[in-house]
Amino acid sequence: MREDSLPEDSIPEEEVLRILDEMKGRDLHYDRFFSTMCTRPHSIAVKAHNLFLETNLGDPGLFPGVAELEARTIRIMGELLGCPDAVGYISTGGTESNIQAIRAARSASRVRAGNIVVPASAHFSFDKIGDLLNLEVRKADLDENLKVDVSSVERLVDDRTVAMVGIAGTTEFGQVDPIDKLAQIAKDRRIHLHVDAAFGGFVLPFLGQDYLWDFRIDGVSSITIDPHKMGMSTIPAGGLLFRTTKDINALELDTHYLTVARQASLTGTRSGASAAATYAVMIHLGRSGFRNVVGYCMDLTRHLVAGSRKIGVNPVIKPVMNVVALTVKSPAEVRSELIKLGWHVSMTREPNRALRLILMPHITHENIDLFLEDLEATLKNL
Ligand code: PLP
Repeated sequence: MREDSLPEDSIPEEEVLRILDEMKGRDLHYDRFFSTMCTRPHSIAVKAHNLFLETNLGDPGLFPGVAELEARTIRIMGELLGCPDAVGYISTGGTESNIQAIRAARSASRVRAGNIVVPASAHFSFDKIGDLLNLEVRKADLDENLKVDVSSVERLVDDRTVAMVGIAGTTEFGQVDPIDKLAQIAKDRRIHLHVDAAFGGFVLPFLGQDYLWDFRIDGVSSITIDPHKMGMSTIPAGGLLFRTTKDINALELDTHYLTVARQASLTGTRSGASAAATYAVMIHLGRSGFRNVVGYCMDLTRHLVAGSRKIGVNPVIKPVMNVVALTVKSPAEVRSELIKLGWHVSMTREPNRALRLILMPHITHENIDLFLEDLEATLKNL
């Protein structure tokens, strides 16, 4: 029997499950993943996801229950980010949310052949956006702390700039851009400011330090915040929020045949499962639960940094959140040696090539100690 062609006759369920089981056995395990910004979803998110598997939020009139859960989730996230009246939807992740935020900004601005100004540290989804929306992507320099350099942004912005982007939790260093200063430029020049908090959105509010980076800053127009990263929800769950309905209206198109006359989401058919999962995990954990999750990840972060320093390895910047970049000689070689030992670490880009580790809830203190032993031995043997 060939397992990669459509069989003429049914394969019995037990046999299908055996194949699936075998393939699942080939997948790696989260325990040793330092490279990913996702984690095992919370058990209540899995239960909620399974309950709503068949729902389609692309046609919400047929599924008013899960549509209400999505609306509540957006309200809760809006409140968390300083704007309870924010509007938006649960997307498939950070990439879709970023695409849609910039698409809305471009439509509202009516500029064609425009540009966007993003930090050099921006996620590669902004390069996809440039390609998709035919926008020039202008990359602003970073300062010595790897935050965007505001004067560089000022130099790049012009009359064809349809959006500026600031990042709250950069993919490689977990750094937070000076959103207040970017907002000032955005307000003065009447430009849409999008904050990409795909990772930091579920970290910064629970760090115990009051970072000001969200809708509380006048001038922030939209935010990406991903439940499938530090929000402990199931994949795919992204969050896109706009301060005003004007921006989301700019995304709406006529639907012709659905239970709603207009649709703002990028995809048509979209699962209600991850919206339900996100709602369930948010109300189940509550603020104190998220504080515990983030607190645990920050303990791991301190543990890793202290242990690294002991073996002569320093972080590129003092970690702001649970993202650590470690300066080592020949990071690519170190990385491939570590992967051979079962540790999945990634790397940051030039000009600041370093080992990149994300301290997610699936990591344990024991595994950090084991990792550090292997890192030390690897560095000695190079
Ligand atoms: N934005 C930031 C800051 C990210 O770190 C990531 C992914 O790591 C994304 C956007 C893209 O998110 P996704 O992979 O969910 O599309």
